[in-house]
Amino acid sequence: MKIKVDFDLCESNALCEALAPTHFQIDDDDFLQILDENVTPEDLDTVQQAVAACPKSAISLVEG
Ligand code: SF4
Repeated sequence: MKIKVDFDLCESNALCEALAPTHFQIDDDDFLQILDENVTPEDLDTVQQAVAACPKSAISLVEG
């Protein structure tokens, strides 16, 4: 699985970073960076929590 973010929707509120800091980080310019787009089976629960927590529904997981 891979992480996709709709950056037009993202409001940089860092909720995903709080839940999955290995994959998401708000940079010094207040933009979301995807640190690692790949989601391993071990990471899946954590990343899915970030997906569910995003109030803008900006994060999705895609096959690949
Ligand atoms: S939780 Fe959603 S809106 Fe917030 S920074 Fe992450 S992707 Fe952007």
